[in-house]
Amino acid sequence: MDQQRFVDNLKRRGYGVTVFDTGAQAAAYLNEAIDGRTVGFGDSETMLSMGLYDLLSTHNRCFDPMHRPEGETFRETARKTLLTDVFLTSLNAMSETGELVNIDGTGNRVAGSLFGHEKVYFVVSLSKLCPTLDDAIFRARNVAAPKNAARHGFANPCVLKGDRCYDCSARDRICNALVVHYRKMRGIEMEVVLIREALGL
Ligand code: SF4
Repeated sequence: MDQQRFVDNLKRRGYGVTVFDTGAQAAAYLNEAIDGRTVGFGDSETMLSMGLYDLLSTHNRCFDPMHRPEGETFRETARKTLLTDVFLTSLNAMSETGELVNIDGTGNRVAGSLFGHEKVYFVVSLSKLCPTLDDAIFRARNVAAPKNAARHGFANPCVLKGDRCYDCSARDRICNALVVHYRKMRGIEMEVVLIREALGL
């Protein structure tokens, strides 16, 4: 795939773009760029593997449902992530044409990526880049979502059979909304932090 064409298409759609070889380099960049702010995290295996919460929380006020304080529920912490200066999340897939795709079960991750913040960062590995929007949606539904369901330990059909999405009605279905970002949202600064190293699901 043509990564330069993808970067050019992101810029044409209004996003800031930075590119790094490794997750460690991207983490160092974000640790420098975000200082003295309130920061919300969307659930992301990529950012967990980068140790971003630990880095940023030494000099920012951070809220992350995956690192919630003792006695606080997921919902309580997730609500706080929606009112921060900065919001960080990842993506399930991207198209070379510049569309960004995310699936969510609870909604905090996609909600935070759409409204309410001064700046949103999408921190994502280029291993999730697909040729077209249809391919990106296919990846989000049939590759990323089943892996996410497995990570949570849910016995959904995609996990039990391990090959694709079954559009299930399981109690623990994690695919309740699919968001396609066609362009940068109005009134929010948005940056896509691309990482050449394979990270995330
Ligand atoms: S809809 Fe159900 S089967 Fe499909 S990926 Fe989501 S949890 Fe798995």
